[in-house]
Amino acid sequence: MTSEPDLSRRRWLKGGLAPTRPENTLPWAKDWPSFTDGCTRCGDCQRACPERIIIAGDGGFPVLDFGRGECTFCGRCADACPEPLFAPRQEAPWHQLAEFGPACLAIGGVHCRSCEDSCEPQAIRFRPQLGAVARPELDAERCTGCGACVAGCPAGAIKILSQEQA
Ligand code: SF4
Ligand code: SF4
Ligand code: SF4
Repeated sequence: MTSEPDLSRRRWLKGGLAPTRPENTLPWAKDWPSFTDGCTRCGDCQRACPERIIIAGDGGFPVLDFGRGECTFCGRCADACPEPLFAPRQEAPWHQLAEFGPACLAIGGVHCRSCEDSCEPQAIRFRPQLGAVARPELDAERCTGCGACVAGCPAGAIKILSQEQA
């Protein structure tokens, strides 16, 4: 177990306190304070991701950018990490869901169903509405939080939000 002075020292060596939690952390990653305490910012996870969705975020810590693509849950980022920063693969990779914001074209009355096509688990449905454009609705049971719908949205209206923070 790591003692408090050790943690303080590592934070000091990293040049101050860890940045605030980003919107999208890596799958199976431990909670953000533990992750930033142990992450050396070596970039191994970033190089291992075949989808190229891991980028260096605030402070150089790895974060996900779903604007570049989706997570396929291949686990290569966790496998490549030399530090004990990831939960076992048999656990859920995360608890996060897609959310449609006010920029959504369909919510604004313009016909669009792009996100429905990008969602493989078929978690996005469009219920017909009398006299109005059908709006996207999320089936939370099906959504894996993979982020595939983010890049597929022409309006940039979708965020993948952690349910732990909500
Ligand atoms: S699980 Fe695979 S696709 Fe997802 S972030 Fe890690 S390496 Fe990339
Ligand atoms: S792709 Fe984007 S703009 Fe189109 S319906 Fe889905 S959330 Fe709305
Ligand atoms: S995050 Fe993935 S599973 Fe969830 S709605 Fe978007 S594409 Fe579908």
